[in-house]
Amino acid sequence: MYGKFKEYLQGELKSIEEAGLYKHERTICSPQGAEITLADGSKALNFCANNYLGLSDNPRLIAAAKKAMDERGFGMSSVRFICGKCDLHEELEKAVSKYFHTEDTILYAACFDANGGVFEPLLTKDDAIISDALNHASIIDGVRLCKAVRYRYNNADMADLEEKLKEAQAQRFRIICTDGVFSMDGNVAPMDKICDLAEKYDALVMVDESHSAGVVGPTGHGVAEQFNLYGRIDIHTGTLGKSFGGAVGGFTTGRKEIIDMLRQRSRPYLFSNSLPPMICAAGIEMFKMMEESTELHDRQQENVAYFRDKMTAAGFDIHPTQSAICAVMLYDPILAGNFAKAMAKENIFVTSFTYPVVPKGLDRIRVQLSAAHTRPQLDKAIAAFIKVGKELGVLK
Ligand SMILES: *Cc1c(COP(=O)(O)O)cnc(C)c1O
Repeated sequence: MYGKFKEYLQGELKSIEEAGLYKHERTICSPQGAEITLADGSKALNFCANNYLGLSDNPRLIAAAKKAMDERGFGMSSVRFICGKCDLHEELEKAVSKYFHTEDTILYAACFDANGGVFEPLLTKDDAIISDALNHASIIDGVRLCKAVRYRYNNADMADLEEKLKEAQAQRFRIICTDGVFSMDGNVAPMDKICDLAEKYDALVMVDESHSAGVVGPTGHGVAEQFNLYGRIDIHTGTLGKSFGGAVGGFTTGRKEIIDMLRQRSRPYLFSNSLPPMICAAGIEMFKMMEESTELHDRQQENVAYFRDKMTAAGFDIHPTQSAICAVMLYDPILAGNFAKAMAKENIFVTSFTYPVVPKGLDRIRVQLSAAHTRPQLDKAIAAFIKVGKELGVLK
């Protein structure tokens, strides 16, 4: 049997490769950080990690994780409703609730699971989910697992959202769901307007803070802090895998009864292993650090402003960013691909995004800035951008 299937897969893989969509992976042999070492011993500056606060190799998080491993062992070997939870799970959930000013929190193995398990336990075929067109794949999958009627509005388009809310009055309950920061443009969802429309049309609000937590808002507490919406957002989901340390782990935080219901019915929570103690301990330590100082967030914001200003002055077309994501617009798929390759030759890692990941003609390089980047490292990246930009005719 495998013979025919193998041929089929080989054909599909070949067409992926020919379309230029085959995903090749580098091998990193150092901790994640501003500078990384590859398998061949070469070093590169990394501008494509979600390491927004530079915590991936933070000594305090590593020490907290090691201590927890010594004291609590390696893994939990169970789901929570069978063996019970670890005290560190509880402590981390409290820390997440405190950070987002919410009533309660439930932990998952990843934000992918948080989003996969948030809709189906809460809504039925009588309800409506109204989802931003650019929402993350995990939200899309979560919506697919739920029987609610689906509506999709154009990215951050409030007139379109209002239309969909009007249509969705036919259903019993409605929920608007959106990414906090959209990962391709780095724009923030207009949460103040979304909450106003939710009130007007009697809808719940859910936001995925994966790219906004630790980044957006005067001290990085996410979209509720940015727009002063404490108490008006019903559900936040998020990850420990980006700003918050970069390992793994996800969470849903919000209204008490919603979290309670998820603990009873959310399948990725019920039927998947609970987070290892070391991850919880590092997370608890991370939230302590966030409380002690906003230094990392401040530095990240300075780095974004510095990079954006220097790149704009050099003549690059930078998409207006409201986060740690900077889109350098090139408007051509082949140029974008070649640009990223030429940057890698300069030992600067950035990602090119082309259709179908972004709309046709809006091809770009995405740069992710971090608190970990030093001024000389930023300057080196900008110099490489200018050099490659001239070589490829993007700059005059
Ligand atoms: C990265 C990301 C996720 C997935 O988070 P994991 O914890 O890695 O599963 C979910 N939603 C959004 C918007 C993301 O950017």
